[in-house]
Amino acid sequence: MGTVAALSFRGETGDRYEVREAVAGVYDRVNAKLSAWDEDSELSRFARAKTNDLSFVSDDVRPCYECAFRLARESGNAFNPRLGATLRDLGFTRVSDVDLGAIAKGFAVDAAYDELVATGYARRPDGGALLIDLGGNLRSAAGEWRTGVRNPFAATGESAPPHAAIIVLTNGEAVATSGNYERFVEKDGIRVSHILDGRTGQPVQGIAGVTVLAESAMMADGLSTTLFVLGPKAGMEFLAKHYPGTAALWIPDNPDDPCIIATPSMRPRLLSPIFPVRH
Ligand code: AMP
Ligand code: MG
Repeated sequence: MGTVAALSFRGETGDRYEVREAVAGVYDRVNAKLSAWDEDSELSRFARAKTNDLSFVSDDVRPCYECAFRLARESGNAFNPRLGATLRDLGFTRVSDVDLGAIAKGFAVDAAYDELVATGYARRPDGGALLIDLGGNLRSAAGEWRTGVRNPFAATGESAPPHAAIIVLTNGEAVATSGNYERFVEKDGIRVSHILDGRTGQPVQGIAGVTVLAESAMMADGLSTTLFVLGPKAGMEFLAKHYPGTAALWIPDNPDDPCIIATPSMRPRLLSPIFPVRH
C-alpha cells in the first residue's frame, strides 16, 4: 500500500511474532485485492469494467467499496473514488481509474483488528495492550494508547514540537489523519497535494491536516479524506447531517498563525494542544 505498517505492544501481549504474522497476512490479502498500483488487482479489474455494479466485488472487500461510494454520494463527490486517472495526469503513480487509497488502509486496519479479535490476540485481561498502525490509520486492539496528532509545521521550525496535540485512544477506537505533508509531487516548482477536490479534480489547498476519531478505522480514514476536501465549515455541516457526534479536527495550512479547528466532540479529547483550539 506504499506506506509503513507498525504494531505497538505493551505489557503481557502473548506471542508478538504470531500477532505480526497474522496482521501481515491480512494486509497481503487486502492489498492483493485493493491495490491501485497492480493492474491485476480486483480493484483494477473493477475499474476496467466501468460500472458501479458491486456484484463484481468479492465479499471480503465489499464493505470498503460500499463505504467509498456512500461517502461519494453523501459528500456530493467531494470524496470521489474515481480519481485514479486525474492523479496519474498530475504525476502520481496509479494504474487504476478507481482508487480506494483514501479508505483502503483503514479497511485493512479493521480487517487486522477483526482477525486479532477472532483469534483471541486482542483480548488481554492481563493488562497487555496492542495498537495497530498502518500509515497513520490507528486502532487500539487492546488497552489505552496516547497517540500524537502530528504537527504539520514541525519540519519548518527546528524546535517545533512534533505533535499538535495528544489523543488517548481507548479499546477498539480508531483515529486517522490526512495530511498535505504526506505525499505530494512537484509540478512547475509548486507542491501538489495528493488529495484532490473530487468535484473539480483540483488539488486541495488551505488545509495542512485533518484528524478523525471513529468507531472503525475505515470510517476514520474515509472521513478524514472527505473532511480534508470539504474544509472546516462545510465539513462540520456534513458531519452534523450524516455522522453526528463524530469527532474531527482541522489544522489550516497557515504556519504564521496556526490553530486547531475542532468539533465539539473532539475538544474534550485533545490533550496538551500546542495551538489555540477554535470552532
Ligand atoms: P488519505 O491519505 O487517506 O487522505 O488518502 C489520500 C489518497 O486518496 C490519495 O493519495 C489518493 O489516492 C486518494 N484521493 C485523493 N483525493 C481523493 C478524494 N477527493 N476522494 C477520494 N480519494 C481521494
Ligand atoms: Mg483517508
